[in-house]
Amino acid sequence: MSTTPYQFKTDVAIIGAGPAGAATSLFLAKKGIKHTLFDLAVFPRDKVCGDALSGKAVKILKHIDSQFVADMQSQKNSFLDSWGITFIAPNGSSIDIPFKQNNAQAEEPPGFIAKRIDFDNFLINQLDANFTEMHLGTRVTDLVQSDEGIEIHYQTNGEAKKALAKMIVGAEGSRSIAARKLAGHTGDPNHFCSAIRGYYKNVKGNHPQNFIELYFLEQVLPGYFWIFPLPNNMANVGVGVLSANVKKKNLNLKEALQKVIAEHPMLKERFKEAELVGGISGWGLPLGSRRRNLSGERFLLVGDAASLIDPFSGEGIGNALVSAMIGAEVIETAVSRQDFSKSTLEVYDRLLYEKLWDELKLSYIMQRLGQVRWLFNLVVNRAKKSQTLRDTISCMFEDLNMRAMLRSPAFYLRLLFNL
Ligand SMILES: Cc1cc2nc3c(=O)[nH]c(=O)nc-3n(C[C@H](O)[C@H](O)[C@H](O)COP(=O)(O)OP(=O)(O)OC[C@H]3O[C@@H](n4cnc5c(N)ncnc54)[C@H](O)[C@@H]3O)c2cc1C
Repeated sequence: MSTTPYQFKTDVAIIGAGPAGAATSLFLAKKGIKHTLFDLAVFPRDKVCGDALSGKAVKILKHIDSQFVADMQSQKNSFLDSWGITFIAPNGSSIDIPFKQNNAQAEEPPGFIAKRIDFDNFLINQLDANFTEMHLGTRVTDLVQSDEGIEIHYQTNGEAKKALAKMIVGAEGSRSIAARKLAGHTGDPNHFCSAIRGYYKNVKGNHPQNFIELYFLEQVLPGYFWIFPLPNNMANVGVGVLSANVKKKNLNLKEALQKVIAEHPMLKERFKEAELVGGISGWGLPLGSRRRNLSGERFLLVGDAASLIDPFSGEGIGNALVSAMIGAEVIETAVSRQDFSKSTLEVYDRLLYEKLWDELKLSYIMQRLGQVRWLFNLVVNRAKKSQTLRDTISCMFEDLNMRAMLRSPAFYLRLLFNL
């Protein structure tokens, strides 16, 4: 009879089956690496989010499987294609910016909006049982370093159990045990956003190409109020603000959201016949505006557990998928060498920040510039009048060098003096 205290042993255990964990699992399966996946939820399950899938997310999904986008497009009740963004400046001026300059010729949509209950379930359904041992409905309660590996303490069907992994992938989102216990991360309200959202039926006047709408309103800077259209005449409506400012201004986000809907001159008519379906729920966004250590002895962190959300747009799914892709590369090396040491895994931090840091830094600058109301108003006012400027902003979604222009004082001087 075995005396081992462990239910099972595994090389790699992923904790969390949201986009970061599910994508890590899919990338590992493509490499033929067996692993174990834990999630406290049983899918389909809800997750508080704005539900927008950016071009970056779509690109990585295509890396996993070139068929995914066509599959998503065919599920019209769950996935709505989205072709651009409407920005509304604090003074009420608005501009429509397509995600791609050549929207009309594009064969597939540059982005989607899908309730997370549907999108996350779509990913879970793609997992490969030949490589992925799934423990759903299983809450990990503690992670403990030992000489042999990392002990995973978990609860399933009311019973406490233990397993042992040679390495852990922390993918449990913003309340990650791995980030806190293994990487020593602590919360920082200057690099964390508080947000709420509700699902509304019958919001009128959405853009015909399902543009997502971001309202940079005085009372919620740095942050924004949003309306993201969904299939079946639904919309995801929410507001997110930097947590430090929520505290400083003593903001009640639910009240702020309801006040905007009831009083904003551009919105009150649109919401006249709208109906809230279900409640309004909140969750936190760990922003990638500060570098952190993302790996160490026998672990690495992906997605929100690694604090990778774009500090300007609040988009986190794209970076979660990027981290999964790069994480799987590093895990492949560790598994093939059977070396899960800090020195083997720390290449992950370098590769991931090489890919994302410039963009995160720039978004952090934009988050801070966005608080300068007159500057924001100026850019939107000028873009309203200038097709060239709108095209330039459109290019910024795909081209980081173009986005870097927003950092340059010359860009604003040219706008100020109409050059
Ligand atoms: C209000 C709001 C709006 C947002 N809007 C957008 C948007 O429109 N577009 C966008 O790209 N991003 C958006 N984001 C960010 C996005 O939601 C996250 O970046 C994304 O969910 C990160 O995915 P993840 O897999 O890392 O974490 P999660 O999606 O949080 O998944 C973590 C998983 O881990 C599981 N888990 C947690 N703890 C445990 C445990 N102890 N044991 C076992 N399992 C556990 C959970 O059940 C969950 O399934 C928004 C966030 C918020 C809060």
